[in-house]
Order: sequence, then C-alpha cells, then structure tokens
Amino acid sequence: MKALQEVSGHHPLQKSLAQIVGERNIIELESGLISYSRDATPYPSIAPRIVVRPTSVEQISEVLTLANAHRNPVITLGGRTSLTGLPPLANEDCIVIDTTLLSHVLEIDETNMTVTAECGIIMGALEQRLAKKGLFVHTVNVPLHFVTLGGVLSGVVGGGIPQKSPLYGLGMHFLLGLKLVLPDGRVIDTNAHGANIHQKRDFIKGGNGPDITGLFVGDGGLFGVKVHATLRIFSEPPPWEADCRIFKDYDKVLKAYFRLSKLEPIPYAQMRVRDGPDYSLAYNVEASDPSQRKAVLGFIGRICEEEGGVKGSEKEMIGARMLRDMAELRTEASVRSPKILIAFFMANTDLPKIHQEIKNLIQNEISSKHLDRLGVSTFSGFIPELQNSSYGFYSISYDDKSEESKAEVLSLGKLCYQRVVELGCCPEPHQGFGSQAMARAWSSEYRSLILGIKRSLDPRMILNRGLWDI
Ligand SMILES: Cc1cc2nc3c(=O)[nH]c(=O)nc-3n(C[C@H](O)[C@H](O)[C@H](O)COP(=O)(O)OP(=O)(O)OC[C@H]3O[C@@H](n4cnc5c(N)ncnc54)[C@H](O)[C@@H]3O)c2cc1C
Repeated sequence: MKALQEVSGHHPLQKSLAQIVGERNIIELESGLISYSRDATPYPSIAPRIVVRPTSVEQISEVLTLANAHRNPVITLGGRTSLTGLPPLANEDCIVIDTTLLSHVLEIDETNMTVTAECGIIMGALEQRLAKKGLFVHTVNVPLHFVTLGGVLSGVVGGGIPQKSPLYGLGMHFLLGLKLVLPDGRVIDTNAHGANIHQKRDFIKGGNGPDITGLFVGDGGLFGVKVHATLRIFSEPPPWEADCRIFKDYDKVLKAYFRLSKLEPIPYAQMRVRDGPDYSLAYNVEASDPSQRKAVLGFIGRICEEEGGVKGSEKEMIGARMLRDMAELRTEASVRSPKILIAFFMANTDLPKIHQEIKNLIQNEISSKHLDRLGVSTFSGFIPELQNSSYGFYSISYDDKSEESKAEVLSLGKLCYQRVVELGCCPEPHQGFGSQAMARAWSSEYRSLILGIKRSLDPRMILNRGLWDI
C-alpha cells in the first residue's frame, strides 16, 4: 500500500470524472483524502488517490459506467464508521465514491407508512425528519449521527441493528425496496421501488418475483451502490421506563433471560445482560399509560427475582436507563474512541457456552500478554434478537498513543472474529476483515454461487474488490 504523499499527479480518469460530478466534487489533495483513509477502528488505513462526491443517481451511474469501461476499481463509502476496516483499494487508481451528498428524504408516505430516502443520508437526520411529523423509523443504536442509510444496510449483518431490535428485529425487517446502481452503470429498482413497471408502490417483498432486495442486504456493497431505500415507518413510540436486576450467578441470569425472551408477546422493548463481577439484566418497556408501564416492569422484575435477581443500586439504574437514552454514547468522541468491538449473532441454544468462551478468550489473552499494562480493558454482554438468537458484544479499549497497544488489540480482534466464525456464529461487520473471516468459512458451493452472482452483476470485478475475499 502506498503512503498518501507517494502518490502524485492527477488520476488518469480525473478529467472525465470532473465532467460528471464537477471539479468541486472531486477530492485529490492529501489534506482532503486523509479523512477517507480509515474507519472508526485500528484496522489498516487505505490511501485513496481520488474521491468523487456525486449528487445524483445519474452521476453515480456515469461514474460506474466510466470506471467499468476502463476496468478501474471503485469502492463506495458512506459515514466510514465500519468496524473491521474499509474495503481494500484494489490498486492505486481505485476511485472512492462518497455517497454523503445524496442525503435527501424523497417521500414520506403517511398512507402506506413508508419513507423513501437517498442512501447517503445520515441516520440521525432521517430520524429527525420523521420525528418532526410525529413519526418513527428504526435506525441504529449508537452511531446514529455518523452512519449513512446505505452504509448500514450494506455493512451490518441483517442490514443494521436498531435500538429496539430485541423486540422488533433487524434493519432488513423494515426495508421494503431499493434503487441500486449496478457496477456497469445500470440502474435497477427492487420491490417497493417499482420492479413492476406498472406498480410503483408494491410493498410486498417477493410479490413481484424473487426477493431480490435481500441479496443486497449486508452485501458489504459488493453487488452495487445503494442510492434510494424505502423503509417502513411507525407512529411515534409511547413513553418508556427502565429497570434492572442484579444476579451473582451466570446460570441464574441466563435462566431469567431465557424465560423473558420466550414470552409471547415480548414484554420489553430492549433487554441486555452486562457482565461484571455481577451480572446486570437491564430492560425497558413502552406504554402510554404509566400504570401499565409499572405493571409490565413489575412482571419482568418478579420473573428475575424468582431466578435470584435483586434490585439494582442507583448507579446500576443509570446504566439501565442509558440502554435507551444513548446521548453520551452517541458523541463523536465516543463512537470513534480507541476500541475494537467484537459483535456477532448466535443461536440461543449456543449462547451459554459461546458467550463464555469468547469472554474467556479475550480475558486470557489480556492476562497472559499483560495487556492491561498497555491500557487495554474490556467489557461484554449480550442481548436477545427477537426470540431465536442472541447478540454478543465485547468492547476492547486500548491506548491509541501506544503502537504496541494498538497492534495487540488488532490481532486480538482478528483472533476473536476467526473463532466466532469457527463456532458457527454470524459476525456483525459485513465489511473489511469481518467479511473475509466469514467468507473463509463458506462452503465451496456457496462460494461459487456468490462468485457467479458477482460475475453476472460485475463482470469486470470493479466494485469493492477484496470484500468477502473476492
Ligand atoms: C462504536 C460503534 C457502534 C456501532 N453500533 C451499531 C449499532 O448500534 N447498530 C448498527 O447497525 N451498527 C452499528 N455499528 C456499525 C455501523 O453501523 C456499520 O459499520 C455501518 O456499516 C457503518 O455505516 P457507514 O455509513 O459508516 O458505512 P461505511 O463504513 O462508509 O461503509 C461500510 C460498508 O458499506 C459499504 N457501503 C457504504 N455505503 C454504501 C452504499 N450506498 N451502497 C453500497 N455499499 C455501501 C462500504 O463499501 C463498506 O463496505 C457501530 C459502529 C461503531 C464504530
């Protein structure tokens, strides 16, 4: 990989690209390129030579048509907050498409309860636009003010993990259709966007043919550039209230967790177990009527107490409320603070063993290599995802002034993701190293199917090369 300053002169397609997006939407100076060189993690940086910032679907299509004709590699970037590194630059002429100028809300349809927006929109901006009308859209938990709609639908397992996913599900459950630019410049609409040319408002996935939308969910941007997305919207949610119970024992907290997550209907909007010396099981419930909220909180509390949980202290209650009120965790300093997140889904039946194994792996590495002397610390926990799986998270912080600390944590992160895949779990990041670790475990039949689809959509293999080891 070349250092930024080693690359000089204009990109061979600079003139043509400037004709498409305009001189002011081309970035070639090192000072401008530097912010495109890394994501929110210590994974290796990239050194792009040119970034284009299209303002329309037509411009993205023209950029890809041009790149395709010249077999010039391209990568797409949104908010650049991915968890395991950016897609590798296939070579020094690789063009980066920054989608963030495509950031408009195109339609809020209050009859069909949908919103259609451009995919470079920041999730927080989308949420705010709807909130002004008393409406709600499922977005993301922590990096709300930094991630784009297209980045989340592409880069996270299941198209994103919204705040209330324990009760309502993943981003894919709210996605009704996409407009995409394929790597050769063709523009296609799936489902809600009008796969049927006579019907521009078809919200039944799979209604007008196979559910093609799903192919592009969590693809890491391998198959095309997402330019518009239509999502379900809802009325503003009712007020919420939180509580928590503390358990001394792993087996007991698991018993309470499984009893609660199997209830029908699910009584909580969110639930989380956080490890510590003790285990804190935090939850919140939504209901307009305060007495109903109290009743449901009391019901959950009683189940926990039957399994040995006791009421948390005021400090633990602050933690329980933060599960929902994420203001402190949503600042730039927090989202980009030096840490690695190991995050993945596993079947509920596997949770008890796997969560403990990954936690032990991290703790053993930290103590056997004395990483605490390098400022490395960790915390972990898990949440339910609907009723069939659980999401484990393990945050490992390090000292970013120490290269040794960074390198050790990076190799620990890779080790964990490899193990997670070997244990049959689904890593959260469908980008960078996360996608590569996952792809190495694909069966040969699955791999050849994915390759076949890639070749038919991108015969010259120009888009996001290196993702999924392709
Ligand atoms: C501290 C932290 C907390 C997080 N918490 C959550 C969470 O609560 N919920 C959640 O869902 N995620 C969470 N994430 C993960 C984050 O949402 C994803 O990494 C997401 O992909 C980032 O979106 P982005 O716009 O920054 O994408 P980028 O990082 O710019 O890109 C990610 C991938 O998507 C591709 N891509 C981007 N835009 C497009 C497009 N328009 N079309 C096609 N491909 C595209 C890129 O090529 C790349 O492979 C967290 C990340 C961090 C750092």
